[in-house]
Amino acid sequence: MKKLIAGNWKMNGNAAEASALIEAVEAKIAKDMDILDKCDFVVCPPFVHLGLVRAKLENVAMGAQNCSQRGNGAFTGDISCAMLRDIGARYVILGHSERRQYHKEKDETIAAKAQAANAEGLITIICVGETEEEREAGKQNDIVAAQLEKSLPDGVSEDNTVIAYEPVWAIGTGKTATPDDIRAMHAFIRGKLVAKYDDGDKIRILYGGSVKPSNAAEIFAVEHVDGALIGGASLKADDFMGIAAAA
Ligand code: PEP
Repeated sequence: MKKLIAGNWKMNGNAAEASALIEAVEAKIAKDMDILDKCDFVVCPPFVHLGLVRAKLENVAMGAQNCSQRGNGAFTGDISCAMLRDIGARYVILGHSERRQYHKEKDETIAAKAQAANAEGLITIICVGETEEEREAGKQNDIVAAQLEKSLPDGVSEDNTVIAYEPVWAIGTGKTATPDDIRAMHAFIRGKLVAKYDDGDKIRILYGGSVKPSNAAEIFAVEHVDGALIGGASLKADDFMGIAAAA
């Protein structure tokens, strides 16, 4: 399976910076097209930059960082899946721990958003992961199992869903889970997917949490790591592509 290299730009960058970043990523891929045999790429800019990034895409797909579960209508401040499709998004990140934490998004809401996204033809990147406290209490498998059970909608398949395991304590902290921790959790998630879905062995499972060029190779070497969801390091084309090179 090709690795999926996904950049989550979060709430960063002005228009000029977003343009320069996608141009730099595309330019690096253009110089080394063989990398496309090994990796698929997606970048997820803030909503306001989707249009300008779309205009510069060559070999990279585009995603959003959130969507509404509702269709177009009187929902001030929300963005529908139809709007995301219309502007050229193919993916949408859902259930990121920052949305679970700051917007109190619950698994049920994430499942409703995922259902709406899939119905519109978007591929969801559904984030799951435990907090530091939960890991210290040895509850990581229970937490992730419950998130998988409740935040995945009906009709999940390898064509419409990607799972991202992101231990919350490793996001933006510089702390990375050890290869053994990642191996154990990715095998656990794979087992759950295989038990529930016919193509559960083909649904991609990304690792996310302080992935950088210096640790990417050992993370990608772990079984059932099918790519990475990259926050901070996706804001520098050299780092983003350095991670891809490790794949
Ligand atoms: C993320 O936000 O999904 C993430 C993994 O961030 P970082 O790479 O900065 O830890």
